[in-house]
Amino acid sequence: MSNEELWKAVLGEMELSLSRANFATWFKNTSIVSKDKNLISVSVPNGFIKEWLESKFNKKILQSIRTLNPEIREIKYIVGKPKVELARQDLTKIILDREMEEKTNTDADQDIDKATNLNKRYSFESFVVGSNNELAHAAAQGVTKNLGKLYNPLFLYGGVGLGKTHLLQAIGNKVMTDNKERKILYISTEKFTADMLDSIRNRSIEELKNWYARLDLLMIDDIQFIAGKEKTQEIVFSVFNELYGKNKQIIFSSDRPPKAIPTLEERLRSRFEGGMIADIGLPDFETRLAILKNKCSDKNTPLDDEVLAYIATHIQKNVRELEGALNRIVAFGQIYNKNPELKEVKNILNTYLSAPYKKTSPQTILKSVADFYSISMNDLLKRSRKKEVVRPRQIAMFLLREETKLSFPEIGQKLGGRDHSTVIHACEKIKNEVSIDEPLKQELVLIKERVYNSFDK
Ligand code: ADP
Ligand code: MG
Repeated sequence: MSNEELWKAVLGEMELSLSRANFATWFKNTSIVSKDKNLISVSVPNGFIKEWLESKFNKKILQSIRTLNPEIREIKYIVGKPKVELARQDLTKIILDREMEEKTNTDADQDIDKATNLNKRYSFESFVVGSNNELAHAAAQGVTKNLGKLYNPLFLYGGVGLGKTHLLQAIGNKVMTDNKERKILYISTEKFTADMLDSIRNRSIEELKNWYARLDLLMIDDIQFIAGKEKTQEIVFSVFNELYGKNKQIIFSSDRPPKAIPTLEERLRSRFEGGMIADIGLPDFETRLAILKNKCSDKNTPLDDEVLAYIATHIQKNVRELEGALNRIVAFGQIYNKNPELKEVKNILNTYLSAPYKKTSPQTILKSVADFYSISMNDLLKRSRKKEVVRPRQIAMFLLREETKLSFPEIGQKLGGRDHSTVIHACEKIKNEVSIDEPLKQELVLIKERVYNSFDK
């Protein structure tokens, strides 16, 4: 393998795990200038990039090189003139190809119906049913057959990337196919709130309400984001009553059950709980395998059963991650123009799973905790003793201790200059509670999901 090919492979892998802008910033105009025995020299355009690659990406680059050249022990970065015209062209092609693929696979704008916000990609046919989502799936199908009559509202909840949006959209698509006249709207809670603020500004809030009132099916995704938003709660309540009174179907999704949404008005909570509530859990091994097989046949890229089983065994967190891992392996196959063998898949997933450069920053943890409990960063960090912030703060301390390398005094420093003994007490307390308190355990899982997912942004 030539230096150029080797570097191309490394870049291919780095590119998969970084945003486009990031990737371009750090890896544009880099190349391998020499390779002898166990040392590789990489040319970089300037000292800033040299420093950055050394401190942030070296481990990952080395890992990636060692999958192909196990004898390499060290990489030296030298500031110098690049000779990369050719490599850059190839790379651009890789990136463009990938972008094309993303366009066809994901929510490219043209695939989304403007009137309903429905994307045809999400159907019941492409949804794999397993024991984790059986009930939610059955409820979703039930709704399509008895719109507004059987389960109203339908409230679906489950962690990130487990198929809530997929199910909502599948319901919408099915109802639409069955009867084109039906008025359907899928909307995220964020968009709902933004539209509402617009209408308030333009003094047309009644118009907006009427616009929702004409619907036969309203689906609001990620309703947990309604927490702390009083005005949105008020409008959702009013739209809900209007539609419900006319036997029109309403569906919500959320990352947690209604009772775990903080600062939710009681009257809304009882509406959410008044119909059918179904949860989606983590898929078991069989379901994960079935999903992978499905995606492979969608993509027209057969992978060995052994390979699929390996992925299904090692990626368990959620379906989105399962898809992400599969995409990487498929991309690898495309770059090298061959079907990846188990050995290679292991390597790809190893780097993917350990992701050493994805360091959890204290800031991300604090932000995730504040967002989750709908309190401001200011309240979390300052000395306030309000009950609603004391507990989130203890949880933040616990997570900082678990997920970062910060010492007790450092954690105390970050959270309003508290004494290390306070931190120790908080960590012990939460640790003890987690072992006996299932809802708390779930909350921590959800917060951590937010922390991990924020890396992808
Ligand atoms: P959520 O809204 O719960 O965060 P999504 O519905 O966006 O999750 O699902 C994440 C990805 O996983 C989507 O691409 C979706 O199509 C896919 N997915 C989730 N569950 C399933 C399933 N049971 N069968 C097939 N694909 C699934
Ligand atoms: Mg979703």
